[in-house]
Amino acid sequence: MKTRRWNVASVFLAFAIFIFTVVGLGFPYTVKYVVTSVKEQEMEEHLRVLAAELAHSFELRDTRGAGFYLADGDLMCGDINVRLDGALMDDLRALTDVHFAVFNAGKRVSTTITSKSGTRYEAAFEIDIWNQYGSQGETYFTTDGVINEKPFWGYYYPIQSGQGFPLGMVYAGVEASKMEAAIEKTVRPFRIFGNIICAVSLVLLAVGAYYVLRSQRTVLKFMRMFDKGDFSEQVPKWLLESKSEYGEIGRHLVSMRDSLDGRVQKDTLTGLFNRRAAMYTLKKYFVEANTPGGETFCFAIGDIDFFKKVNDTYGHNCGDEVLKKVSQILSDNMKEFGFAARWGGEEFILVFRGKLPQAMRQLEYILASVRSAVVEYDDYQVKVTMTFGIIQYHAPNNLDYVISAADKLLYKGKENGRNQIVS
Ligand code: GH3
Ligand code: MG
Ligand code: MG
Repeated sequence: MKTRRWNVASVFLAFAIFIFTVVGLGFPYTVKYVVTSVKEQEMEEHLRVLAAELAHSFELRDTRGAGFYLADGDLMCGDINVRLDGALMDDLRALTDVHFAVFNAGKRVSTTITSKSGTRYEAAFEIDIWNQYGSQGETYFTTDGVINEKPFWGYYYPIQSGQGFPLGMVYAGVEASKMEAAIEKTVRPFRIFGNIICAVSLVLLAVGAYYVLRSQRTVLKFMRMFDKGDFSEQVPKWLLESKSEYGEIGRHLVSMRDSLDGRVQKDTLTGLFNRRAAMYTLKKYFVEANTPGGETFCFAIGDIDFFKKVNDTYGHNCGDEVLKKVSQILSDNMKEFGFAARWGGEEFILVFRGKLPQAMRQLEYILASVRSAVVEYDDYQVKVTMTFGIIQYHAPNNLDYVISAADKLLYKGKENGRNQIVS
């Protein structure tokens, strides 16, 4: 089976990237974009009004009504030489915190923006803006102008002579850094909100992903072992106690394992361990007996005497009842001593912890119980006897030796007249 372990993890990763991009980055970016464009529109309108206001202020002071004109190359409004009279701009600046300038064609002739030495910033040019907009009688708004090395948002408003000839421009502008600070102030709560939502979502996602992936890995590990026929893997307690679906899956797996384990290990007729399971457990006794300080064991094989006769006389079903009865006696009396198993047909093995004398005492008791047991079948009362061969294990013999030695003793018992124990 092809396994693609990265699948679920990659879905979680995609979610994390999505949340980070959309909530962490996209949301504040969008808010900033919207706030910036709103501020730009507001500021454009504000600066347009102020620039027009300044131009109009010159005209209001012009008592002759001559309007703007050029005299000896200087921009005049009535009697005012705009280049020499900065008072109007300064007044308006004091009221509005906006910078102003006046251009004679594209040449800046006066401004509220002072240079580092404190003089008015003059003799600078905005030739492109004059050529493209001012000279056409058009307004122009920009958010990336630079004046005196500082970025500005500015509005250029055309000045025309009384006859309607373009003469120059009035400029109203604010430092871009002030606008950025205002935008930042509006955006900040949204950014903080976005970051908190993003962080909380990512933490929740990470916790969820960790739990799901860990549960999934644990369940898969268990199922793979299970698939290979290894029932020894334990499902961890945290998963079994979990209230999630994974907890339920884990609990189902354990009960499936247990019932399957029972079916694989137990003989269906008698409920005793089958030969395969018996060998498995016997090997553990063998290992124990071969570890320094470990306890030895005794191995017995028993066979029901003249069992064929039982079948022949009372029927196969009655034979089965006898097998069940005998099995019950064996398992009841082996609980504290070791274990009993059905070796095949009407042959059983008994494995006792410890040495021969104690095992013999118990085996004699078991044989006596078998002798006195009565199987009621139809109107018959059936009784059987058994013959046993028993041997104590001694290192360094192997298991095959132990089994065949016990078998030989059993055979000897059959020869000697059955219904006995040979050790
Ligand atoms: P001995 O004293 O020498 O052991 O004689 P026996 O008749 O017990 O020996 P034998 O091996 O000839 O017969 C065993 C019989 O057990 C043969 C078989 O039909 C029967 N048998 C094996 N498994 C089952 C079973 O599951 N149910 C029943 N009813 N009979 C079984
Ligand atoms: Mg037999
Ligand atoms: Mg027999």
